[in-house]
Amino acid sequence: MTNSNKHNLLKNLPGVDHLLELAKKDDQLMDIPRSVILDSIRKALDRTRKDILSENIEHPITDETILDEAGILAQDKIKSRLVHVINATGVVLHTNLGRALLCDAALKNIKTIAQSYSNLELKIETGKRGIRYEAVDELICELTGAQSAIVVNNNAGAVLLALNTIAKDRQVVVSRGELVEIGGSFRVPDVMSKSRCILKEVGTTNRTHLKDYESAVSDETGLFLKVHASNYKIEGFTASVALKDLVLLGKEKNIPVMEDLGSGTLIDFSKYGLPPEPTVSDSVGSGADVVTFSGDKLLGGPQAGIIVGKKHIIDQIKRNPLTRALRIDKLTLAALESTLSLYRDEKKAIRQIPTLRMLTLPFKEISKKADLLFKTIKKDIGMLADIDVADMNSRPGGGSFPALNLPTRCITIQPKDMSVSKLELHMRLSTPAVIARIEDNKYILDPRTIQNGQEAIISSNLTKILKKK
Ligand SMILES: *Cc1c(COP(=O)(O)O)cnc(C)c1O
Repeated sequence: MTNSNKHNLLKNLPGVDHLLELAKKDDQLMDIPRSVILDSIRKALDRTRKDILSENIEHPITDETILDEAGILAQDKIKSRLVHVINATGVVLHTNLGRALLCDAALKNIKTIAQSYSNLELKIETGKRGIRYEAVDELICELTGAQSAIVVNNNAGAVLLALNTIAKDRQVVVSRGELVEIGGSFRVPDVMSKSRCILKEVGTTNRTHLKDYESAVSDETGLFLKVHASNYKIEGFTASVALKDLVLLGKEKNIPVMEDLGSGTLIDFSKYGLPPEPTVSDSVGSGADVVTFSGDKLLGGPQAGIIVGKKHIIDQIKRNPLTRALRIDKLTLAALESTLSLYRDEKKAIRQIPTLRMLTLPFKEISKKADLLFKTIKKDIGMLADIDVADMNSRPGGGSFPALNLPTRCITIQPKDMSVSKLELHMRLSTPAVIARIEDNKYILDPRTIQNGQEAIISSNLTKILKKK
C-alpha cells in the first residue's frame, strides 16, 4: 500500500459524531450509556487507524465494521464482572468460588431487610437506641454455650480485634506448629504485629509441650493463643497442648487463653461419617476466654467473623474503636441470623444449609447425581468423547478438614478430537463458566458441588464446545 493510499483511508474514516448518531439508531447499541459507547467508538477508530498504518486490513473499512467493533468493546465493558459459575470441582468450600452458598431462609431474610427499614439499631420496646449485634449474640450464645458474643466482618478481623483488645503491646505466646498462613496474606505473625502484639514463639514445628508455654511466661505475657491448623496436618512424631491444659495453665498464671478455630463448626461432623472437627462448644467448654471462627466456612453462612467468650472480654472488645471499623452490615446480619436459627434443629440445618448438605451427602445420593449427569452427557456428546464414571475423592476445602478426602463418584471425559486442556479452558470461558479439574489427562466433573438443574447446562456447554471444536 502506498503512503497516499494510507493517507486517503485515514482521511475518509468517519467522525466520532457521525458514528455516535448511527449508534443511537442501532437496536443493539441504543441502550448502552453514551459515555461507554463514545469511549468504545474512539477506541475502535484508534485501532482502525493503527491497522491502516500497519497495513493489517482484512476487509473494507465501513461505518458498520467500526461500529461493530465499538459494539463488542462496549458490551464487554458493561457486562457484569461478578458472575455465577458452576462449581464442578467437588470442593465444597472453595475460597476462589465464594465459599459457602447461602440457605433459602438467609436469602429470604436478606431481601426483606434490604428492601425495608429495620430495627438494626433500635430497641422497638423502648424506642431507644439498640445494639446491632443483638440480633445474633443471644442465638450464638445459645448454640455455643458461650457467655457473650460479637460478630465482625470476617475471622481475620475477629483475630485482629481480639488480639488488639486483649494483648496490645504485650507478648502473645503461640506454638511454632501453629504459625499458620491461611492464604491471601493472612499469616499469624503478620496479624500479630498489625494488632500491635508481640509474638512469642514456643516449642518446635512438630512438638510443643505445656512446659514450653510455662517457661515463656513473664511480666510481658498478655495472652496464650492457639490457632487451629485448618489447612495442613503435621503427622508423625508430634505433640501439641490440648486447649483445656492451656486453660489450666492460664488460670494458674492469670493469663487469658484464646483459640482461633478458623472454620469453627457448630455440629459434630463425626456423626455423619466425617472425621471429628473441634466444635465451637468444645472450645468454649474447655474454658477458653475467647474463641474466633468464620461465618462462611463450615458454618455455611455469610462472610463474618464470630467472636465468643467470657463476658468481660467481649465487653472490652465491644468498646475497642476498631470494632466500628470491622462491623458487619445489615444484610450479613440478616443472613447470619437466619442461618444460625436453623441450627436449633440439627436435622433441619443439614437439610437446608447447602454447605452441610453437600459435605454430608451420602454416597448413594452422589452416585444418583453422577448417574443423571452421565446419562445427560452421554446422550449429548457420546459420539464426541469417551465418557465414564469413576470413584474418586473430593476435598472439603476452605480451611476445613485438612487432609480429608470424601469418597465421590465423578464423570470423566476424554474428547476424541480435542485436548483435555483445551476442553477445560473452553468450559471455563463458556457461559456460565464451568470450573472443573483435570486428572490423568481426563476432564473430571464432581457432582458433589453441582447444583440441581445444572446438569443440562453443563451438557449443553460441552456440546457447543465439542461440536464447534
Ligand atoms: C480461614 C481462617 C482465618 C481467616 O478467616 P476469614 O473468615 O477468611 O477471614 C483465620 N484463621 C484460621 C485458622 C482460618 O482457618
